[in-house]
Amino acid sequence: MRTIDELRRNFYRIELPLPLESLNSINIYVVRDGEKVLIIDTGINTKECLDSLLGCLKELKIDINEIDYFITHSHIDHFGNLKSLLRKGKKAYMNKIEWEHIKRLKYNLFKNEIEYFLIRSGFPEIDIESLPSQFNKVEPIYDIDPKNFTFLCDGDYLRLGNYNFLCITTPGHTKGHTTLFETELKLFISGDHILGEITPTVQTRLYPENPLKDYLASLKKIYSLPIECVLPSHGKCFKDHKGRIEELWKHHKQRIEEVVAILKEGERNTYEIASKMSWDIHFNDWNSFPPLQKFFAVGEAMAHLRYLEEEGLIKRRIKSQKEIISWKLTGTGKTNQKMSSEL
Ligand SMILES: [Zn+2]
Repeated sequence: MRTIDELRRNFYRIELPLPLESLNSINIYVVRDGEKVLIIDTGINTKECLDSLLGCLKELKIDINEIDYFITHSHIDHFGNLKSLLRKGKKAYMNKIEWEHIKRLKYNLFKNEIEYFLIRSGFPEIDIESLPSQFNKVEPIYDIDPKNFTFLCDGDYLRLGNYNFLCITTPGHTKGHTTLFETELKLFISGDHILGEITPTVQTRLYPENPLKDYLASLKKIYSLPIECVLPSHGKCFKDHKGRIEELWKHHKQRIEEVVAILKEGERNTYEIASKMSWDIHFNDWNSFPPLQKFFAVGEAMAHLRYLEEEGLIKRRIKSQKEIISWKLTGTGKTNQKMSSEL
């Protein structure tokens, strides 16, 4: 499966296949000016995805030796083919925070962080042991020479031909997540910050990060932009960015209220809270979730708990020698009314 859409002159959307249960495709964007080409994100490092991309480049008569890349963030479905695609002398643009994350994966610090997080969340040992080996090995893909990168910051511009892309950092989905806004045509390449059909995940495993607070601030940052069309990494392009941001805002407000309602029943650890939250996936109940889904759910529960903790609505208590975190309400559990009107 692959699709090429010409969105504007010399500006294409390519849909590539993903082997993930929850996401079956990713969009990458291709901009060209004569021989010069900029590609935004690369797809995942599977043979099917890479072959599809190479097929599209051939169809568009693009020379792989002439391509620079922009990577929205450090998730494998976005940068997984970068190492295979990047040619000598060509550039890979990225936010430095995302590069630092990739380096942590490369040096395998990630595994220790994850295990510590799982234990502190109250994750049962049997589930930790059955998590897939992907967290126990370092893929060679992470081994990219840092000399290939040019780091971009909020407010920088990427220019190609008539296209001017303003870099806008949107932390939340990842810490250094960066989007591009084409200032003339008002096209917004949103990465995984705003998606039309699915809710981007916001998870945390590292204290004292508060990615939900960051994410909500990033929604607000984008809300007032004069966007004509959103070009997301997954699903179809869409127009009403304000309407979608309002939905996402409401979703997180409801999640926060759900967590508070769970804690009204009594003190709980993160794993227990996640098991009582509602999840929009096709398993009947928490016990039938595969360990990897539980892992993502606990990361998402933690993001909402950290938000509530910083708002002063809940507090943590360390239980047992394993340092398991237990959460309880500080007051009556009245959630912050500011949240809905802040947008
Ligand atoms: Zn992502």
